[in-house]
Amino acid sequence: GVEGGVVVGSVTSGGTESCLLAVKSARDVWRSARAGSPRTPRLVAPVTVHAAFHKAAEYFGLALDLVPVDPATGTLTPAAIEERLGDDVALVVISAPSYPFASLDPVADVAAICGARGIALHVDACIGGFALAFWPDHLPAWDLAVPGVTSLSADLHKYGYAPKGVSVLLTRGRDRQRHQYFATTGWPGYPVVNPTMTGSKPAGPLAAAWSISEALGEPGFARLTARAARATGELRTVVEGIEGLRVVG
Ligand SMILES: *Cc1c(COP(=O)(O)O)cnc(C)c1O
Repeated sequence: GVEGGVVVGSVTSGGTESCLLAVKSARDVWRSARAGSPRTPRLVAPVTVHAAFHKAAEYFGLALDLVPVDPATGTLTPAAIEERLGDDVALVVISAPSYPFASLDPVADVAAICGARGIALHVDACIGGFALAFWPDHLPAWDLAVPGVTSLSADLHKYGYAPKGVSVLLTRGRDRQRHQYFATTGWPGYPVVNPTMTGSKPAGPLAAAWSISEALGEPGFARLTARAARATGELRTVVEGIEGLRVVG
């Protein structure tokens, strides 16, 4: 990838851990560029962002600044994000798609705004990443192919069809990813170098995810996603036909 080199990744225990680490890394990148700043870093996101980011802001001491979405579409205008940006913003988070409304936030436009200001942008594709990658209809760009997207989370234990306990966090550039790590030799035991929040790490869910993705292959994911897309279309039609109900997202 452009801007900061290769895309690197970590396997984590789930979406929450991927989201927590994305926030922790962005906070530490922000801090390292502002040594000694007494300011509280800010996390800007639409109100539809997953609660894992509320948790991350609380755990890692960021102010959470939530931007309203249009009730008709379930997503925001890029200008709504742009208005909130400033030097104290350590990270912007948008979703592909959001959990509450399944709306695809405008990734390319928000990435252009954040990229121009050098502000990190995380795309939370925890629920949708492994489905959008195989979605039968044309979709706007939503992943790390978009310059300006600095990290992305996708859960193998959702539409990767793996058992619970496995997700991936992808990051643009090793220098950025280095802020994800905890390392110390300052105790009498072994050198601790942890890329994720766990120490000893259960490899069972990872092995299951690997086996499942090998067994399905791209054709298998495409087939399952096409079936889910068809079912979604049918549900939409039924719901839209019920008086008083409206499909958002
Ligand atoms: C599920 C989900 C998360 C949190 O993931 P867990 O695997 O439940 O920890 C975060 N963001 C989105 C969009 C999700 O769908």
